[in-house]
Amino acid sequence: MNIQYKASLSALTTMGLGGDAAQLVEVYSPDDVRQAVIYARQHRLPWYVLGGGSNTLAHDDGFNGLVILNKIPGTDVIDQTMRHTTFTVGAGELWDVFVARTVDGNLSGIECLSAIPGTAGAAPVQNIGAYGQEVSSVITYVDAYDAKNDTFTRLQNAECEFSYRHSIFRGREQGRYIITAVTMQLRTVLPQPPFYKAIETYLREHSIANPSVRQLRDAVVAIRANKLPDPRTTPNTGSFFKNAIVSREVYERIVADYPNAPHYDLPDGNVKIPTGWLIEQSGLKGALYRGMRVYDKNALVLVNESAKSYDDLAAARQYITNTVQAKFGITIQQEPLEIS
Ligand SMILES: Cc1cc2nc3c(=O)[nH]c(=O)nc-3n(C[C@H](O)[C@H](O)[C@H](O)COP(=O)(O)OP(=O)(O)OC[C@H]3O[C@@H](n4cnc5c(N)ncnc54)[C@H](O)[C@@H]3O)c2cc1C
Repeated sequence: MNIQYKASLSALTTMGLGGDAAQLVEVYSPDDVRQAVIYARQHRLPWYVLGGGSNTLAHDDGFNGLVILNKIPGTDVIDQTMRHTTFTVGAGELWDVFVARTVDGNLSGIECLSAIPGTAGAAPVQNIGAYGQEVSSVITYVDAYDAKNDTFTRLQNAECEFSYRHSIFRGREQGRYIITAVTMQLRTVLPQPPFYKAIETYLREHSIANPSVRQLRDAVVAIRANKLPDPRTTPNTGSFFKNAIVSREVYERIVADYPNAPHYDLPDGNVKIPTGWLIEQSGLKGALYRGMRVYDKNALVLVNESAKSYDDLAAARQYITNTVQAKFGITIQQEPLEIS
């Protein structure tokens, strides 16, 4: 195993903050993963898996443990019928490279998840979603190393306990499984309307009636380029807060004051309110606090403009959370996870 010492976490995470990891190892196969965990145990080190670091925050005092940097490659077609193609994708593959490949094959199911940064292995962790699609709707099963029992295991879709930006991997079994591959089934049928509002608008403006998978990907890439900063030049983690899920009672209270409040009714009776809207209505869109900017094109995104530390980010998060709480009585939740 090729251990690197003092690895900069600010360089490994797209928010660009945080100290060093004591040790880091790149893994290229399921067996590498197992060896890395055994090494960490033998050296009494905590471990943490990282992919592209686009949904992870690091603390100023770094991580006194082993970062396992997932680079497991490979994309295989394992089944093909008239209606479906099923792929197994190595956890270290770049997510958007895989999406592009499925779109090239005219396959539908994840075209609206185009241009999401990061690795395929991290996609199930928060059940990535965008523009009306979620990765959980195409996942058949997830292969993982089970660090608790020192075995390789396969979790079927239902066992992953997927919900909105959530799964077993960041929920009750966080830190137990290291995902090594994800198996997904894509459809050969054309994408079916209705599409998310921003996509419908794009299609209308471009006079596209029955969009192909390629046209939907192009639409999503264009829409995202307009409202999300590129982490390669502008440090950020995409949506910094999850959308708020509130009871109907809370929603009724808000809509009495804001009759045009955007909202989505959920099947369980609760209501989803875009947190970007809550932040904007709290007067914080474009605000700069301790070097962290509430992005002026999308208030859900926090950009590290000139923050010097994780402490600066934590102070900005507190300020935004408190302001929204004071105005709406809603406690908004952070989306990225933290290395600890
Ligand atoms: C500009 C921008 C736009 C974004 N847009 C979206 C969006 O539209 N929708 C959306 O859902 N997300 C979005 N994100 C968030 C992020 O890109 C996704 O969550 C992505 O899946 C993270 O991948 P990653 O490899 O960078 O994960 P990392 O940040 O490296 O890891 C994220 C978490 O997953 C865990 N993890 C990573 N790999 C594994 C593994 N192999 N096994 C077990 N656990 C693992 C890590 O420990 C960590 O807790 C966006 C981020 C940015 C910067």
